Amino acid sequence: MTTDATPAATPVRTRFAPSPTGFLHLGGARTALYSWAYARHFGGTFVLRIEDTDLERSTPEAVQAILDGMQWLGLDHDEGPFYQMQRMDRYREVIAQMLEADTAYHCYCTPEEVEAMRERLRAAGEKPRYDGTWRPEPGKVLPAVPEGRKPVVRFRNPLDGDVTWHDVVKGPITISNKELDDLVIARTDGTPTYNFCVAVDDWDMRITHVLRGDDHVNNTPRQINILRAIGAPLPQYGHLPMILGSDGQKLSKRHGAVSVMEYPAQGFLPEAMLNYLARLGWSHGDDEVFSMEQFCEWFNLEHLTASPAQFNNEKLAWLNNHWIKQADNARLAELARPRMLAAGAVFDGAPDLATVLGLLKERTNTVNELADAAMLFYRAPQPDAALMTQHFTDAVKPALAAFAERINKIEWTKEAIAAMLKEVLAAHGLKMPQLAMPLRLIVTGQLQTPAIDAVLQLFGRDEVMARVARYL
Ligand code: GLU
Repeated sequence: MTTDATPAATPVRTRFAPSPTGFLHLGGARTALYSWAYARHFGGTFVLRIEDTDLERSTPEAVQAILDGMQWLGLDHDEGPFYQMQRMDRYREVIAQMLEADTAYHCYCTPEEVEAMRERLRAAGEKPRYDGTWRPEPGKVLPAVPEGRKPVVRFRNPLDGDVTWHDVVKGPITISNKELDDLVIARTDGTPTYNFCVAVDDWDMRITHVLRGDDHVNNTPRQINILRAIGAPLPQYGHLPMILGSDGQKLSKRHGAVSVMEYPAQGFLPEAMLNYLARLGWSHGDDEVFSMEQFCEWFNLEHLTASPAQFNNEKLAWLNNHWIKQADNARLAELARPRMLAAGAVFDGAPDLATVLGLLKERTNTVNELADAAMLFYRAPQPDAALMTQHFTDAVKPALAAFAERINKIEWTKEAIAAMLKEVLAAHGLKMPQLAMPLRLIVTGQLQTPAIDAVLQLFGRDEVMARVARYL
C-alpha cells in the first residue's frame, strides 16, 4: 500500500487527459465520465488536459473532436483545457531541477549503443535494459563525455525495492524496481517524454485521483517513482478495464460505432449514452436507468468493475428508447428536423412536429427512426397502386363517402373522430380495419401508422378532406 497517498481531507481533483490522435472513443468517454462524476460527487474540480506531445499523431481536428464529444455529453471541465505543448518551459525547469538534485542524469549513449547493450543482455538470458553506464554512483568514475554528442536525460530509478499502489479498480499492484529502466525523460533535443510530462502535470494540477484505461498500468510505477523523486504527493490510481465488443474481442469498428460523435449522428441522446457508459464498468445495485444527477450522487470508487465490460448495442438502444420517451418533444423536434428536411419534408401547413413526435416516440429506439416515422405527416401521400386495389374495394367506397360527408359535421377531436368512424362502420356493416386501412393509405400513403383517429386529428380537418376528396 502506498503510505504517501493523498490525505482524505484534500479536495478532490480529477482529470481527463486524452491524446488527440483520433476521435473520442467510447473508452475515453467512459474515463472522462467517471473522472467528471467523481469530481462532481465531492464538489471537486475536473481538469481537461490535452496530451499533444506526440507531434506526428496529434492533430487540431482530433482536439476539436474531443472537445465536441465532451460538449455533446455535457462533461464540463472546471479547469483547462491545458495543452502539454504549451508547458514545455515548465517541463524543462523540472528536468533542470532533477539534474541538480541528482534524481536524473545525462546519458551519452547513442541509440545504437543502447540497442547493443540490450542485445547483449538478451543473449545472456537477462531482461534487456539500460545497463547504467552513465548513472552516477558514489565513487564511480563515469566515462569521458564524447565530444559533440548531445545527451539524453535519464531518470534515476531506484535500483531495489518495489513500487506498490492500491489500485481502486484492480486492488494492490506491485512492480519490482528491477523491472524498470532508467527512463529517458528528455530526448537529445531537450523535449520531455510522455511519462515524465504526465507526472509533472498531475503534480502541478494537484490531481488527487487518476482514473484511466488499464493500458496505462505499466506506466504507473514509472510515474510514481518520478512523483516521489520530485517530492510530489501521489494521487490514487484506478485503471479501468477496456471495453470489449459483444463477441469478447477488443471493441472495434466491426462492432459498430466506436467514436462517440457517431452516436448523435445515429440519433442517440447524450443522456442515454451517459447512462449506458455509467453502467459499463460500475454498478449501483440493480439500477439500470438513472440520470446524471443521480449518477453523480451515487458514483464511488468502490463499485467499479474489475473485469472487462462488453458493449451491447441492444441495451444502449433500449436506454435510448427510455430517454427519448422522457425527452421534451420540442427538443426532439429540433433534433429530427434536419434529417426530415433532407428527406424532403414540407413543414408548412403540416401538423406540429413536436406533437407528432410525441405520438410516435413510444416505440422508437433512435431519433433517426423517429424522424423517419414522422415523415408520413410531411410528404404527399403516394399509396402503392396494388395496395389501394386490395384495400379500397367497392364495398368500402360508400363508407368513405359517408366519412367524407361527416368530416365537417363533427368536432375535430380524437374522440369525436373515433365515434364518427364507428357510426360509419355500423351503417355500412364494416369492421374497423376495412375502413381504417384504406383511410391510412389515402391520407398517409402507408399502412403502418399510429391509431387512425390520432393521425386524422393531427392532419387537421381540411387536409384530411383534401386528401380523401381525391378518391370520391
Ligand atoms: N493520454 C493518455 C491516453 O489518451 C491518457 C493518460 C492518462 O490518463 O494518464 O491514453
